[in-house]
Amino acid sequence: MTDAQQFASDNYAGICPQAWAAMEQANRGSASAYGDDDWTQAAADAFRTLFETECEVFFAFNGTAANSLALASLCQSYHSVICSAQAHVETDECGAPEFFSNGSKLLVAPTESGKLDPAAIRRLATGRADIHFPKPRVVTITQPTETGQVYTIAEIEGIAAVCRELGLRLHMDGARFAHACATLGCAPADMTWRAGVDVLCFGGTKNGMAVGEAVLFFDPVLAQDFDYRCKQAGQLASKMRFLSAPWVGLLESGAWLDNARHGNACAQRLAAVVAALPGVALMFPVEANAVFLTAPDAMLDGLRARGWKFYTFIGGGARFMFAWDADPARVDELIADLRAVAGVAEPAEARVLADA
Ligand SMILES: *Cc1c(COP(=O)(O)O)cnc(C)c1O
Repeated sequence: MTDAQQFASDNYAGICPQAWAAMEQANRGSASAYGDDDWTQAAADAFRTLFETECEVFFAFNGTAANSLALASLCQSYHSVICSAQAHVETDECGAPEFFSNGSKLLVAPTESGKLDPAAIRRLATGRADIHFPKPRVVTITQPTETGQVYTIAEIEGIAAVCRELGLRLHMDGARFAHACATLGCAPADMTWRAGVDVLCFGGTKNGMAVGEAVLFFDPVLAQDFDYRCKQAGQLASKMRFLSAPWVGLLESGAWLDNARHGNACAQRLAAVVAALPGVALMFPVEANAVFLTAPDAMLDGLRARGWKFYTFIGGGARFMFAWDADPARVDELIADLRAVAGVAEPAEARVLADA
């Protein structure tokens, strides 16, 4: 049963063909359990090839677990983690980072754009140095941010420099890491370990898998006992090959990047028409696969009446997310309905096409 495609979340999408084919292959016969199998080895090796380094690789079921356990591995319970006020770890993980770290506190930096910057980090990390305050230990940045902005490599390097100076580790929530790679057109290594990132959570779910995120430690010392942490948290898959095989499918085929490019292109397709819609504006620069629109309530209600689903949990604007399977024709339907509720006539050539 399928309804008309919606863009409320990139998690509405199904499994992409490359991930699905690998799972189907992994399903031919039996294999060793708990990650002691060829698929898991191949997936970890594919990450090492892609990132051009001997990183330590682990697989978790979802992003909340990957982020929380990665942060916990960098902290003692009396430490703190600096993040932006919009960070998923702060707003959408139900306290899991604090829970899995036995109490490491998130220190939230107010930021205009959702991006952290060296000055904000420095303010939070050096504001207090007494025994009564949880000791800053980690900075976490989301790439791209929750509202779809991409840190440049220079920005990441700037953050890493202040981290090194202040003795902080740098974690990256890459739930949509592939989309940032597609935008910057850089090697994954350039945006991570070469820029000073210590640990990356690389999202698979929003990149075309059914389920699963990878945690990459670029400093093997930091990965010590991470396997125990995963097991204790209920994140060690006994049939691990079904979490790892889809990564082999995504990474070896290049689908990880193609999928992200496609999502980004669909976001640009929508963003490009917004300027011509009276009353409608982009809330944030469109740099990945997200478009956030402000519009009068009557227009948003009009879109809903035409069957569109979307969230308005950030600043009251409408969020549209484009996954690997976003259908450009469906994006055009959304654009046509936006024009209609904004009271703008369709461009002539679109009408000719529609009449043909
Ligand atoms: C989706 C997302 C996650 C992961 O969420 P889960 O539902 O736990 O898989 C993490 N960070 C960001 C920024 C996300 O958008």
